[in-house]
Amino acid sequence: MIERAPNIYQLDIPLRNNPLKSLNCYLIVGVESLIIDTGFHTAEGEALIREAMAALGMEPSHTRLFLTHLHSDHTGLADRLAKTGVRVSMGPVDLALLRSSLDPSGDFWQEVLAISIEQGLSADHLALSDHPGFRYRPLALPEVAISRPGDRFLVGDYRFEVIDLPGHTPGLQALYEPKHGLLFSSDHILEQITPNITYWGERFGDSLGQYLGSLDQVLAMTVTRVFSSHRSLPTDHRARIDQIKRHHELRLQECRAILQGGPASVREVTRKLSWDIRATSWEDFPASQKWFAAGEAQAHLVHLVARGELTSEKQGEELIYRLK
Ligand SMILES: [Zn+2]
Repeated sequence: MIERAPNIYQLDIPLRNNPLKSLNCYLIVGVESLIIDTGFHTAEGEALIREAMAALGMEPSHTRLFLTHLHSDHTGLADRLAKTGVRVSMGPVDLALLRSSLDPSGDFWQEVLAISIEQGLSADHLALSDHPGFRYRPLALPEVAISRPGDRFLVGDYRFEVIDLPGHTPGLQALYEPKHGLLFSSDHILEQITPNITYWGERFGDSLGQYLGSLDQVLAMTVTRVFSSHRSLPTDHRARIDQIKRHHELRLQECRAILQGGPASVREVTRKLSWDIRATSWEDFPASQKWFAAGEAQAHLVHLVARGELTSEKQGEELIYRLK
């Protein structure tokens, strides 16, 4: 555990067998304390958080857990910590998605399957059990208080404000402390990893457009330090935002170039994009990575449609994208 700022501690929670390696869990100590995100649903993670709370003198009944977004590496221990008396807060959009993901045969997973069929992934015979989100879906959720933009959590000298930064997930929320210029950015800005931007279905539309808008929103804020959720913390978040934006522009460029060869499904575009993965061909891609890759590719295609550069139309079961 490292004290990153007065009364703000960073605790590394291992994410075993996961390329992200670990989650940066933050514990902020006051009369009413705050924890930001938890790691997966594991006994190891729970023991680490409970030991840290005890060492810092944090009473569970005087502690709030703020969940930034629905991913299981952030929310996995919410239920177990709530059972010790910790109160849990989360934004309404991701909470609704998380709740609907509890039921393995419910709407949430039906929609994931429907999207994969439109992407053309039927040819890959993927099973939902290969989907990391399905494998790590929550088994139970505690009572959760809804957090909305502008809500404040007061901890000692700090006044944390809830802000919406949609993109990485439809309802991702971050905490901003304007007096000290601190931003707990969750997975919105990461230093060593490009945050995954995926397609969430028609209901949520252009997720990449929302994400790029949320990056600009942070650029317009007075921020001196960023506390992100994985690996090392950004030292110059403005430079990092520029890099991330450049990455997506290059990706959009690659998509345009592929479609110059003719109309294509998401699967066909995904196969032709370059990927930073040890697989020589699409067939070698691990099943779990095929879900991610297709989602990421489609987010870029949908953004090009929103920019007016592409059209999409249904051909049989598949969506076909073409340059205008
Ligand atoms: Zn995430």
